[in-house]
Amino acid sequence: MASYLKWYNSPEWNKRIEAFSRRLESCDLCPHKCGVNRLEEEKGFCRAGLRPRVASWNPHRGEEPPVSGVRGSGTIFLSHCTLRCVYCQNYSLSQLGEGKEVPPSTLADYYLQLQQIGCHNLNLVTPTHYLPQLLKALDLAIEKGFSLPIVYNTSGYERKEIISELEGIVDIYMPDLRYCSNQCASQFSEGEGYVENSQAALKEMYRQVGGLQCDASGIAYRGLLIRHLVLPGHISESKKAMAFISDELGSDVYISLMKQYFPAYKAAEYSPLNRMITSQEFEEARQWMEKYNLSSGWVQ
Ligand code: SF4
Repeated sequence: MASYLKWYNSPEWNKRIEAFSRRLESCDLCPHKCGVNRLEEEKGFCRAGLRPRVASWNPHRGEEPPVSGVRGSGTIFLSHCTLRCVYCQNYSLSQLGEGKEVPPSTLADYYLQLQQIGCHNLNLVTPTHYLPQLLKALDLAIEKGFSLPIVYNTSGYERKEIISELEGIVDIYMPDLRYCSNQCASQFSEGEGYVENSQAALKEMYRQVGGLQCDASGIAYRGLLIRHLVLPGHISESKKAMAFISDELGSDVYISLMKQYFPAYKAAEYSPLNRMITSQEFEEARQWMEKYNLSSGWVQ
């Protein structure tokens, strides 16, 4: 059972939803803390407006096996982003804002339709800058029978304070761990203090939900699953990422070690990100995973 069902409609629930909405008046949803009034359509770093902009929504069968399961993960891709990676593979939505603006009531309909199709969960991709609206939609959808566990699918550039407000709402956290040095983070993305923020947020996620837990059919219903994209010429980042997970979290955390990097968006201008990773680099990253005794997860 999704954990929000245990306290939905309580005074605490209503307070939490309202508190998130108030954050839009002086937006501090992510580490940029722009302070813009989103209710007045002022735009901050992420360029997100008041209404959520949805790039696509559908059952996704290409996520990690416990998330996609057999019937797919009910994925909603949100437009805009708080991190602006130079190699973003979804830059048309994250940077150019491709998508359609919808009110929370329409979002709630999407949630319900994904449930009706048979999806195992609701997978919110890059949700942070629209959290108040996504939660408002959740509130509306629950009233109409929505009950899927929520997957929080993020770049990892999060405020710990905001993640702590999601306790009892999100069941499965699926963050990226992109960098473990701020030099790389500022060279290839625009997330000041990425390392401190992401590591504090991941620790909070782990505190809330622990390692990944699956039912008898192998479908995840709770826990933390960390994605790490191996970057060309930066195996030291992969080593530091594995060390952090092993030392600060636990070996029950599932890791998805990904080799699908390709030089998208502006990557051609940022050597060595202007090439694919080599099989030797990926093997080295895999070995670091092994050396740090992180045996749960996938290499893909
Ligand atoms: S969510 Fe957007 S507007 Fe709000 S603090 Fe972050 S970047 Fe700024």
